[in-house]
Amino acid sequence: MKIFDFHMHLPIDFPTAEEKKNALLAEMRRNGVTKGVVISDSATESEIGSLRECAEIFSDTDNIYVVGGISPYFDYAEQLALLEKYISEKKASGIKIYCGHEPIYLDDEKLRPVYRIAEEYGVPVLFHSGWDDPQYSSADVIKRAAGLYSNVKFVCCHCCYPKLAECFEALAEFENVYFDLSSTADNLAIGEEIKTAVENAVRNIPKRIVFGSDHACCDQRRHIDFFMGLDILDKEKSFIFYKNAEDILATLL
Ligand SMILES: [Zn+2]
Repeated sequence: MKIFDFHMHLPIDFPTAEEKKNALLAEMRRNGVTKGVVISDSATESEIGSLRECAEIFSDTDNIYVVGGISPYFDYAEQLALLEKYISEKKASGIKIYCGHEPIYLDDEKLRPVYRIAEEYGVPVLFHSGWDDPQYSSADVIKRAAGLYSNVKFVCCHCCYPKLAECFEALAEFENVYFDLSSTADNLAIGEEIKTAVENAVRNIPKRIVFGSDHACCDQRRHIDFFMGLDILDKEKSFIFYKNAEDILATLL
């Protein structure tokens, strides 16, 4: 089965961006991952790569789609202009907002220019959810943003971890909200609970769940094995392991 990892970052333990890129591509090959999304940081200097670094180093790499982090906290006007430039040049294919890592609500008015770009170019908006400080992208906040910007495709990274079942249920009716499974197989002590929540969601909204690992923060192989082990149909697996990801990026591939 083809595998599209919708949520990856550059590994931090290499000195140069080029070496980080090569290490990431080698890990993908080892794990049979054919395509993937690499998400940059929102800061302009970062060990996982800034928007500029990620967009530039992957501009010659056909199977990687760069999603640019953006934040009102870091050189917002300049970064917005850069983001729009990379998206218009097809060097970036999406936008990431770090709600919770940063004190910014998904429906904050300050993000209006971000959604304007997403609407204009048809690129998805990914956002952090769950873990620590989940209030910035709680289900209610996500509902407000998804209603306000109903033409935008949202991707809820980590599915409000660890409250996956509640997250899927609360947002099932919002057809412009997708879910990436990154980091949710991190703690196998609650593995059964996670599996059940994802299996139920796949039956209910099979076209809106995408595989992601959060490599290099989390283990890619472990995430693949975990979700390959779901008790769902092969057809449903093909949706979550690559077809839905291709649909989200359909106009950009
Ligand atoms: Zn991540």
